[in-house]
Amino acid sequence: MSTIFTKIINGDVPSYKIAEDENYFAFLDINPLAKGHTLVIPKKEINYIFDIDDKLLGGMLVFAKKVARAVEQVVPCKRMGITVLGLEVPHAHIHLVPINTIFDIDFSKEKLKFTTGEFEKLAADIRAHL
Ligand code: AMP
Repeated sequence: MSTIFTKIINGDVPSYKIAEDENYFAFLDINPLAKGHTLVIPKKEINYIFDIDDKLLGGMLVFAKKVARAVEQVVPCKRMGITVLGLEVPHAHIHLVPINTIFDIDFSKEKLKFTTGEFEKLAADIRAHL
């Protein structure tokens, strides 16, 4: 059974896509901690991030950097926070979260709600800065 993230990559489940290349895919988290909360994943379905081979893992960070630079132009913040949890979806992913304080990246706090239109506009704005 493929993961929900593989279904997103294949277009079988919709997502608010930010970027894609041969090896990686980035899209908005649907339960965001902050506006612009984005997930970066390898297209290859690997559960645990530290099982990813060195070359693919290194490239994932470079891809995430490009995405983070675009997000921070649309969502002003002190920094783009970067976190890996992987407790919910068994497909390795990096969380990129715009932060101003440590509390902005507290995964136990209540998630934000946006309408489909708001998510779509945000994704389009970020894509325009890639
Ligand atoms: P974790 O595996 O603990 O890092 O959490 C998985 C993350 O994926 C959570 O922040 C979810 O909100 C997010 N997520 C789960 N399903 C989707 C989806 N269909 N589209 C976007 N984000 C998702």
